[in-house]
Amino acid sequence: MGELRERFWELPIDRLSRDEWEALCDGCGRCCLHKLEDEDTGEVIETNVACKLLDTRTAQCSDYRNRKSFVPDCLRLTLRLVRQVRWLPETCAYRRRAEERPLPGWHYLLTGDRASVRIAGASVAGRVISENDAGPIEHHIVEWND
Ligand code: SF4
Repeated sequence: MGELRERFWELPIDRLSRDEWEALCDGCGRCCLHKLEDEDTGEVIETNVACKLLDTRTAQCSDYRNRKSFVPDCLRLTLRLVRQVRWLPETCAYRRRAEERPLPGWHYLLTGDRASVRIAGASVAGRVISENDAGPIEHHIVEWND
């Protein structure tokens, strides 16, 4: 990984280097969960069903580098996409910086400890089920606490 500038997360999000962009992710795993959309209202409905590549104990992708080979529709977050989609959680560092808001106080870049994301209850680690085991997704609707 290249050098990260001091407090780079306070810079305008469109000025981040590729490595700084990658480092912004808190690893919560929320974007790796399946969502449903209400046909009538367009409302996004959340579930606790994880992509088959997500390690449900750690909320980390088990093959990030090759994920597109196994999950072709996995999205690579770009700034345009961050501004476009409605399903990124309120806590997501990309969403917050795109809205020029600060990172949540528990973000690992502020605490210096990756475990703080889980301790704050922001991580889905240990709280989700793999799509391989879940059965009908409609049985897994949840409300995540933002
Ligand atoms: S929701 Fe945002 S911060 Fe959380 S894992 Fe996805 S991209 Fe990273």
